[in-house]
Amino acid sequence: MDDLAARLATVDARIADAARAAGRDPAQITRIVVTKFHPASLVAELYRLGVRDVGENRQQELTAKAAELGDLAGLRWHFIGQAQTKKARAIRAAASAVHSVDRARLADALDHAGEGELDVLLQVNLTDDPARGGVAPRDIEALAEHVVTGCRTLRIRGVMAVAPLDEPAAPAFERLAGYAQRLRTVVPDADWISAGMTADFVEAVAAGATHLRIGSAITGERPPHI
Ligand SMILES: *Cc1c(COP(=O)(O)O)cnc(C)c1O
Repeated sequence: MDDLAARLATVDARIADAARAAGRDPAQITRIVVTKFHPASLVAELYRLGVRDVGENRQQELTAKAAELGDLAGLRWHFIGQAQTKKARAIRAAASAVHSVDRARLADALDHAGEGELDVLLQVNLTDDPARGGVAPRDIEALAEHVVTGCRTLRIRGVMAVAPLDEPAAPAFERLAGYAQRLRTVVPDADWISAGMTADFVEAVAAGATHLRIGSAITGERPPHI
């Protein structure tokens, strides 16, 4: 097995262990491989290893890679980065899910940018720092109501968050599980919880995450950010 295949298998085994330890079925968890800053050829290699869900955080990179790999049937691109409204059309054209909807204006821009149905998650800020992105927890229901009543082409699937830097991940992800419950008072079938990266995916699984966004543990070191 080459290194990439070995790292993927190791991570998947750790996800399965964490799921069983939490009394959960590993098959209910989607592992998204975050491929940002890596070339499209790495995504193609992952695809050959069976990966069908990949994550990108910058629109231009997403657009370029999705175009280059357009012939890989069933490959799903998850947009996980902070999004500018003027990029909404390009994001929507390439992504099957946008995890980072955190304000009404962005929801509106994505809604107007396409037809059919787009899966979206509401990104929640688990810190007090607005620069980290995400809707403040107290505004979750209002944002969900806005999308449900005003954004016909968006389907809210759940919540997304990044763990704070200055606090252990486990209690933060427990709060996120509570926010997911609050979202379900507005959208009863919104049962996705996107949480957990290389450093904290075990804690995320324990707290009920359904979608893990794992980069470097699988891809290796990211090339420098250009
Ligand atoms: C880069 C990134 C990840 C993956 O990070 P790793 O630590 O490499 O696993 C997950 N989520 C978001 C939003 C990211 O930007």
